[in-house]
Amino acid sequence: MGHELIFCESDRQSLIYYQSFLAFRGAGAVEMSSKIDLNRVEMPKQSPDKRKGNFQEVALGYSSELAKTEANRCIQCKKPKCVEGCPVGVEIPNFICALRKGDMPGAVMALKRKNSLPGICGRVCPQEVQCESRCVLGKKGAPIAIGRLERYVADWELGQKERTKGDVLLPTGKRVAVVGSGPAGLTVAADMAKFGHKVTIFEALHDGGGVLVYGIPEFRLPKGIVRSEIEYVKSLGAELELDCVVGRQVQIDGLFKEGYDAVFLGIGAGAPRFLNVPGENLSGVYSANEYLTRVNLMKAYRFPEYDTPIKKGKKVAVVGGGNVAMDSARSAMRLGADEVHVIYRRSREEMPARLEEVENAMEEGVIFDFLTNPVRFSGDERGMVKVMNVVEMELGEPDASGRRSPCVKESSEHPVDVDTVVIAVGTVPNPLIAASTPELKTTRRGTLVVDERCRTTMKGVWAGGDITSGGATVISAMGAGKTAAADMNDWLKNDGKWS
Ligand SMILES: Cc1cc2nc3c(=O)[nH]c(=O)nc-3n(C[C@H](O)[C@H](O)[C@H](O)COP(=O)(O)OP(=O)(O)OC[C@H]3O[C@@H](n4cnc5c(N)ncnc54)[C@H](O)[C@@H]3O)c2cc1C
Ligand code: SF4
Repeated sequence: MGHELIFCESDRQSLIYYQSFLAFRGAGAVEMSSKIDLNRVEMPKQSPDKRKGNFQEVALGYSSELAKTEANRCIQCKKPKCVEGCPVGVEIPNFICALRKGDMPGAVMALKRKNSLPGICGRVCPQEVQCESRCVLGKKGAPIAIGRLERYVADWELGQKERTKGDVLLPTGKRVAVVGSGPAGLTVAADMAKFGHKVTIFEALHDGGGVLVYGIPEFRLPKGIVRSEIEYVKSLGAELELDCVVGRQVQIDGLFKEGYDAVFLGIGAGAPRFLNVPGENLSGVYSANEYLTRVNLMKAYRFPEYDTPIKKGKKVAVVGGGNVAMDSARSAMRLGADEVHVIYRRSREEMPARLEEVENAMEEGVIFDFLTNPVRFSGDERGMVKVMNVVEMELGEPDASGRRSPCVKESSEHPVDVDTVVIAVGTVPNPLIAASTPELKTTRRGTLVVDERCRTTMKGVWAGGDITSGGATVISAMGAGKTAAADMNDWLKNDGKWS
């Protein structure tokens, strides 16, 4: 590998001998006989008592010393399994190696070769089921904290006067329209700009970033980080046009007529799904979309400094078990609720939320009512929600998703007092673009039909991210963006056939 490996000697327990990993890494490659700590270095956080009263970031990040200690645990595998677990193929051993040698610009470059949004991914990716789940150290102890190290490198760069400039090829003269500025759109924009194409991103909202700004709260992903990573994409040459709703102000056909050679649709799946039970339209019952958009994008938590109000409930129920439910519950806590309940119809094992966020929510005092499901809401004389009737559930046979399906326990219905309810049971695509573009085929779920190259059924139009997968993750949206950009670039260069 040609670089020196430095191993930490710490006073923590669980040490194992490095040699036991030579089998994974390829014997004889390193002259080392040191020890590896099986425990990962913890990242400092705000204490639960303090953080549930503010919207500042919970996780405080590694210091340089902590980052180096954690980086030194990596054994620099010759065939790194961690990279196979990353949907965008980040050069994980390379960036970790540069970090521990103190070559921070090198670490940034190694990260950004494949990932234009490392500060975001380091914070919100579900690493425990991706890169970190493949790390060989996980076989005997804790895998390398890849996400925390990624965040450390990205944050280091933020503190520098000069930002890394990605390599951009000579201009090709081709123009690319990217619709939507979420992680899928930003990834396509960055990669296409690097290939030398002229890129314009059209975004419906008044701020760029998609769910990263209107959904994920400040205490998990500060908006300054999103803005700074968007600035990086712009520094590659991409332009961002805000307040432009494609399908209304301009049609896809219109974009081609304006001279764009290719179009990417990264428009997400931002329309809320409801339970469809009686009383869901009462005042005080929010979709998670509305609730989080008010809190995050419109800054309702700083009302009246910002003029968007939000109901600061005292007894709040959040229905759902994913990241969106965790974000809603933790936001309600910070807005001053006395009691916040997460109502989830399956058990903890089936919860799709990131492990760390479930733990954070529990530490902050959020109460989890597992195997429980609302069946109706009733209100007071002013139409404000007052009572939620729930039933108890038990798990039956696995359904199509492979998870055991919840069944209602007989005679288990009972009322629960609430004054605010947030429904976080998933989202569906907004139908606007598909409805105004007959050439685009959709599935029964309303997602756009694409092939493995992310080509839609309309010539010159690609799509990826939540609009094709349904609600998924930041990194899967970025992975689709990379696939689309590579194929788009080939097609533009070779004037290829559309099939
Ligand atoms: C509250 C919440 C928390 C989450 N937490 C996590 C997490 O911790 N980790 C994780 O990996 N994933 C998380 N996710 C999921 C993740 O954010 C999404 O999977 C990801 O953002 C999808 O990216 P995208 O680019 O496909 O779409 P989006 O991020 O939805 O971006 C789509 C963009 O397109 C714009 N747009 C839509 N229609 C038009 C139009 N007609 N014209 C112009 N612009 C348009 C939208 O305004 C939006 O900005 C979370 C989601 C939510 C809602
Ligand atoms: S992060 Fe884990 S799998 Fe990847 S190179 Fe380091 S030790 Fe190997």
